[in-house]
Amino acid sequence: MVVSPVSADAPSRSSDPGEGLELTRENGQREVFCGLTSIVWLHRRMPDAFFLVVGSRTCAHLVQSAAGVMIFAEPRFGTAILGERDLAGLADANDELDRLVGELLERRPEIRTLFLVGSCPSEVIKLDLAKAAERLNRQHSGRVIVLNYSGSGIETTFTQGEDEALKALMPLLPVDDAEQLLIVGTLADAVEDRFMALFERMGLPRVRSLPPRRSSELPPVGRGTRVLLAQPFLSGTARALVHRGATLLEAPYPFGVEGSRDWMAAAAAAFGIGPATVAEVLDPLVERGRRALAPHRERLAGKRLFLMPDSQMEIPLARFLSRECGMELVEVGVPYLDRQLMAADLALLPAGTRLCEGQDVERQLERVRAERPDLVVCGLGLANPLEAEGIATKWSIELVFSPIHGCDQAGDLAELFARPLRRRTLLNFA
Ligand code: SF4
Repeated sequence: MVVSPVSADAPSRSSDPGEGLELTRENGQREVFCGLTSIVWLHRRMPDAFFLVVGSRTCAHLVQSAAGVMIFAEPRFGTAILGERDLAGLADANDELDRLVGELLERRPEIRTLFLVGSCPSEVIKLDLAKAAERLNRQHSGRVIVLNYSGSGIETTFTQGEDEALKALMPLLPVDDAEQLLIVGTLADAVEDRFMALFERMGLPRVRSLPPRRSSELPPVGRGTRVLLAQPFLSGTARALVHRGATLLEAPYPFGVEGSRDWMAAAAAAFGIGPATVAEVLDPLVERGRRALAPHRERLAGKRLFLMPDSQMEIPLARFLSRECGMELVEVGVPYLDRQLMAADLALLPAGTRLCEGQDVERQLERVRAERPDLVVCGLGLANPLEAEGIATKWSIELVFSPIHGCDQAGDLAELFARPLRRRTLLNFA
């Protein structure tokens, strides 16, 4: 695949018949949630951590409305609201932040790790959260660890928030060169337990995960660590782990039967476990997964799919939906293209697939209207207008909140795409 130089306005286009993929780059207005959104799944993953957004009322509303329906206990996230005086630089926002953190830690003794999460407003007034974290670490030494990262919409798209949070944890990971598999990226607990059990049956020596279930029980990293990414949006974390001596395994992401099988097989191969052992453990799952997929494939096969750039999961999902569900790819958008992290999935995309990196939302919507695909995967903000125009949509954010990894989930994953098509059919006949 070859890319021609980026232009600020006009999209650039090139194709490489060798790999059969056509790549366009766009650099215009984006319609993507910011990295604060990832707090919604991170706070559930690490119940002893707290995420304190330093931002405006808009930031507070975003996180609350994204997570609101899922709160059953006192939330493990909040917002230190920067008021007008702070934004105008009239008050000392640092003093106010120190006071708030002191009150929070007194009220919530269970907090072990406190993430200060930067936002657009905190960046605009140049509030130095790295310095604030240093200062608060000194003040609360031995009680809590304070870290910082940015979830601002200026710097991050919605899944990049997790990448930034994991990078913030990196200096705390102990050094250990022992052989181990490190699964990186948040998984639903039940899905992770299932993978752990399968790896144990294959005979992998030691399997750890990042982020861990307790923020204070961080996995070690070193020369014996093989990194298996569970999520495709962790470019910075993957590189930081490699910098610490770990080896990054190349595999498709564990979406669908094929991707999940190849993902687990890549880990097994890295530890010298033979294909016969892998087949003995995984073949029954593969068989079951294919049976679960079959009814959804009937509905999805031949349907035309347009993926707008949003979650960074678009390429592996496109691979799954084309190869295992028979969908036709009209366009696959991706916020940014990390060729190394996407190599295995890119190699499995059908020849002629049109990829688009970045976004110029108006141009993309024009293409959607011209193509009239059967299904568009997109962010919440674009879904309603497209539905009003009679085009079925799937919210990409749902794919991050749902347990979709593994052979066992392949049927459920396909169902997530079949459901809006069924709904659209019913609406058309209503
Ligand atoms: S961080 Fe920026 S994009 Fe995100 S909610 Fe706050 S103001 Fe909006």
